[in-house]
Amino acid sequence: MDNFEFLSPTKIIFGKGTENQVGQEIKKCGAKKVLFHYGGGSIKRSGLYDKIVASLKETGIDFIELGGVQPNPRVSLVREGIKLCRDNGIDFILAVGGGSVIDSSKAIGVGVPYSGDVWDFYAGKAEPKETLSVGVVLTIPAAGSEASKSSVLTNEDGWYKRGLNVEIIRPKFAIMNPELTFTLPPYQTVCGASDIMAHIMERYFTHTPHVDLTDRLCEGTLKTVIRNVPIVLEQPDNYDARAEIMWASTIAHNDLLSTGRVGDWASHGIEHELSGIYDVPHGAGLAVVFPAWMKYVYKEGVDKFVQFAVRVWNVDMDFEDPERTALAGIDRLKAFYKSVGLPTSLKELNIPDDRLEEMADKCTAGDTQTTGNFKKLGKQDVLNILKMML
Ligand code: NAP
Ligand code: FE
Repeated sequence: MDNFEFLSPTKIIFGKGTENQVGQEIKKCGAKKVLFHYGGGSIKRSGLYDKIVASLKETGIDFIELGGVQPNPRVSLVREGIKLCRDNGIDFILAVGGGSVIDSSKAIGVGVPYSGDVWDFYAGKAEPKETLSVGVVLTIPAAGSEASKSSVLTNEDGWYKRGLNVEIIRPKFAIMNPELTFTLPPYQTVCGASDIMAHIMERYFTHTPHVDLTDRLCEGTLKTVIRNVPIVLEQPDNYDARAEIMWASTIAHNDLLSTGRVGDWASHGIEHELSGIYDVPHGAGLAVVFPAWMKYVYKEGVDKFVQFAVRVWNVDMDFEDPERTALAGIDRLKAFYKSVGLPTSLKELNIPDDRLEEMADKCTAGDTQTTGNFKKLGKQDVLNILKMML
């Protein structure tokens, strides 16, 4: 196990009716004026918008609002949000929605006190030193952004999708009522589950030795998602199954599962090129990338893939031919994706084969960098994996 520091400062407020506490929680944070940030309208249809407004008014919190965050959030709306905050003396951002709204809020938060352009942080040209505080009411378990140190933005100028990873952007609190996820369409539900699973697997596949505790935590969290997704597809309003998935989304990405170990993250890097250019849901893209990445790299550490197959997917161990066991685990993962309605090929995502080279190039900064750790991938490796996804 490697040395590590672990801090997960986000206060989690979990359970039925908790969204009504939002005003009180913001008050405890000492906010004077709030930006209420949300997406394309699901919170208006579900009635959540009215509840948030009522809670803010009840506690006397002054606020203005900015809706319209798109999935794969854009830097242009973030710039608009930054201006709005500066013009109105905003000191706190309330994100009501999923990863896209939360990431857009985090970006506005670091952009307000910064004199340059906010994209500098995503292009790796500058590191944010301060931020406005962000609070969250989560409506979709997926990105884990409610407690993560990440924010992912898309720049329409060149369709670059890039992440910022710094401790200061972890939200102050995350209100998580599983009932708010009953309205999720099946496809959004499974895309979310795919992202949760991906966050765990990015951490699980490591060469760091002696990480038994975190391996077992990863396996348990994965098995919980695998068991509960078919239940919520049958019964969208099954509170307990929704609750298991919702808590898994946070556990998968608040860095508990990466304590003492090095993660991989190549699959996320490759997926960001897909959703950056083709605007596909992140979780759908990951379901296509992950099995291909696994088949490409498993020989770098067959034992880990055998463990994954046996412990997560209950594959019978083939002592004569461990590679066969490893491959059976990858096949079970792919079969699970298919069984819940996720795509497993670029064709199913309607992505043609004419820009693979461009994506491989962008993913490795023109072949000047590698991506991933389990196997360090150069441009040609990424291109090979993209071809396996056709
Ligand atoms: P999302 O993009 O925030 O939302 C997806 C869709 O679900 C939206 O159309 C939204 O509609 C709808 N929706 C959300 N809650 C709903 C509900 N309760 N009922 C009905 N519809 C609902 O989804 P996400 O997967 O959470 O976020 C994806 C983004 O997060 C990607 O850009 C991805 O790259 C990023 N990401 C971030 C991190 C991180 O740590 N920061 C990690 C992984 C991925 P409305 O817009 O109408 O509300
Ligand atoms: Fe993700």
